[in-house]
Amino acid sequence: MTDTRIIDASDPSDQNGIVDLAVGLLVEGEVVALPTETVYGLGADALNADAVAKIFTAKERPKFDPLIVHVGSYEQIDEVANVPDELREVIDKLMKAHWPGPLTLVLPKKECVPDIVTSGLPAVAVRMSAHPLMKAIVRKLGRPIAAPSANRFGRISPTSASAVEKELAGRIPMIIDGGACREGLESTIIRPEISADAGKKGVLIHVLRSGPVTKEMLQRFGKVVRVKKNRSEDAPEAPGQLASHYAPVTPLRLLSKPSEFKPEPGKKYALLSYCGSEKAGFMDLHEWVAVEQLSPGNGKLAEAAVRFFYVLRLLDEIGADEIIAEPVSETGLGVAMMDKLRRASVR
Ligand code: AMP
Ligand code: MG
Repeated sequence: MTDTRIIDASDPSDQNGIVDLAVGLLVEGEVVALPTETVYGLGADALNADAVAKIFTAKERPKFDPLIVHVGSYEQIDEVANVPDELREVIDKLMKAHWPGPLTLVLPKKECVPDIVTSGLPAVAVRMSAHPLMKAIVRKLGRPIAAPSANRFGRISPTSASAVEKELAGRIPMIIDGGACREGLESTIIRPEISADAGKKGVLIHVLRSGPVTKEMLQRFGKVVRVKKNRSEDAPEAPGQLASHYAPVTPLRLLSKPSEFKPEPGKKYALLSYCGSEKAGFMDLHEWVAVEQLSPGNGKLAEAAVRFFYVLRLLDEIGADEIIAEPVSETGLGVAMMDKLRRASVR
């Protein structure tokens, strides 16, 4: 057991001291849980294989699931990736439009990036976080930081320091509490490629994981295609897309319409509602032991995204036998949420 310190970073005047604390641990080859705008990450010096190994141990993450590497500037992408000449223009445009922000680029890796980071793949996933603390910590460290979500493998991603604490307390030395995550969903992961089949722009954008940067937002950079299936579970192109991901401990079932609900006598069911609307037909369908709405303020998809993992966690802690999930509209941000609900859903 390790003592886990939780550092409150809510006072901006403490920022320099907190950055120094985190950087001190990273320099020593330790891991630290850090806030980003998407979900909390568990960070380590990306170029130190022993430090990165501690991420896998703390998360109980299988070695075949590679990590996202955070950089602190546009130029730092060239420290970890070999950007092909023909992709340089579109990568520059994507970075200018979405960095810092929730967009991860998969590119051929530089030799200095240890195999443990990329699970032996020839590509590395790179992003630049918009969270002021994460940005300041990567810059002060002067080296890229590998940081997957700060949860145990296969579990719900944490969007607050208290969620990280539930997942990893006793396993890591420090959690920096930078408040609730602004986006609430993991970054969109893309692999851009030059292709003759991609129409006028000649750029094919493979979406390996849907997220806050939506298909609609990516279309001006090239032809967007979704990678639906892993090539194999051992060496998947988008390994975070394994079927077991994002699951609460309580079984969850995503329904497309109320008539699909067939309750078993004596079982306790909780409802994950989209907007709490009675019109959808789920609210009055059953004596739910609990109901949580993704968008109680009717902010619809943006609000639902911010609350998504938080609400899943709440329902998971209620002690229901099953969580019944109402569908959300499958456009924009809804694509990522439906994807996660399908993966979490029992079959
Ligand atoms: P996490 O931050 O926990 O959501 O995990 C990072 C995810 O990024 C992995 O599960 C993969 O889906 C993806 N990823 C990381 N590195 C690569 C890579 N080299 N190629 C493809 N996908 C990657
Ligand atoms: Mg994850």
